[in-house]
Amino acid sequence: MERVAVYPGSFDPITNGHLDIARRARRLFDRVILTVADNSSKAHTFSTAERVRLAKACVAGLSGVEVDTFDGLLVDYLRRKDSRVIIRGVRAVSDMEYEFQMASMNRAVFPEVETVFLMPDERYTYLSSTMIKEVARLGAAVPDYLPAPALEALRRRYARRARR
Ligand code: ADP
Repeated sequence: MERVAVYPGSFDPITNGHLDIARRARRLFDRVILTVADNSSKAHTFSTAERVRLAKACVAGLSGVEVDTFDGLLVDYLRRKDSRVIIRGVRAVSDMEYEFQMASMNRAVFPEVETVFLMPDERYTYLSSTMIKEVARLGAAVPDYLPAPALEALRRRYARRARR
């Protein structure tokens, strides 16, 4: 049977840290669905459509990794995709506080689900979309941390703002 893992997140925008986790997950599972949360309660820099577009452009070369979007309960999405596995990336122990809460909640509503935590390459330990955006907003580019389409999108976004 095909083993399908779901990698959910905001991906606002997708970074090399996210891609590193997707690659690692793909080594363990036949199919990895990187799914962008269409969560209206969170304020995002990029629209869902834009986050999906960027993620798709970045995983184009990764066979077995696809991009999708979801709203509502993650576990309902897993059921629809016939998956029992959630992938999450963990950069530091501090990430675990929140991740444990979420994994426990997901297990409570869907007991068969397992959350698999993967550690990225050390280069990405201090990388977050939030930090990247803060630096980009102040005018610096960080090409080592961002795939080209995301870098380009951030440049356009903040260049436009600077002109206002
Ligand atoms: P969320 O809002 O769900 O936390 P993110 O897009 O911030 O969405 O992150 C999605 C997943 O990717 C989370 O599991 C997060 O811990 C992980 N992640 C984010 N940045 C990195 C990184 N640099 N290295 C490894 N994992 C990461």
